[in-house]
Amino acid sequence: MKRDPIDFLEPSVSLYNKPWVVICQAMRAVGLGLLMISLLGAWGTSQPTLITVVAIDAGHGGDDTGGIGIDNLVEKDIVLKIAHLIALEAVSFPYIKITLTRHDDRYLSPTERLQNAPDAHLWVSLHLDFSYDPWMHGITILMPTRASQATQALAEALHQSIRATTKELSWETRTAHLWLRRLNIPAVQINLGFITNPEEARKLKQLAYQQRLARAIVQGIADFRRSQF
Ligand SMILES: [Zn+2]
Repeated sequence: MKRDPIDFLEPSVSLYNKPWVVICQAMRAVGLGLLMISLLGAWGTSQPTLITVVAIDAGHGGDDTGGIGIDNLVEKDIVLKIAHLIALEAVSFPYIKITLTRHDDRYLSPTERLQNAPDAHLWVSLHLDFSYDPWMHGITILMPTRASQATQALAEALHQSIRATTKELSWETRTAHLWLRRLNIPAVQINLGFITNPEEARKLKQLAYQQRLARAIVQGIADFRRSQF
């Protein structure tokens, strides 16, 4: 005997009047909601692997001038300019987002610097070197002692890129006791030359040279990022 479709429909309609069915339906709706939230959450947490946020940390600031070199070249000013140029250069790298730990001429403690870049995946501090020996020159990349493999890879990528850009400069990569070891992300410090060396001081004042350094740093970050995928 053929059953009327109403026979199939009617019980389910009437079931809605039963509390346990209503509870089941509600649980299913909540489950679907939770699933959506977890999917969105997974998408959200996967974003940092697509966009690499890089903290560019211009050293010193405010009363803390850093080194003062030839022709009153002030470390805090030069590194801040280069930090801004790095942010400009990175605009053409859609997967790199630069966060400056300081935007202007003010002193910030390491804790404040960290607070200004809470979502950073990489950290690059910028400094200049100072020496009473005017012959001392060169760019140095510093890593915290017991640096992670990722930090070493970041230092190496920056090192290669800067070397390719500034062929005439000597440079080295070495470990040092830096507060950067407090960070649990790849973190390096680049000393971009000696403000006490006449030739380097002359170049560090030039916008074109500052731009070359900025471009090399962004390229090094892009190379490191590519190597991690
Ligand atoms: Zn410094």
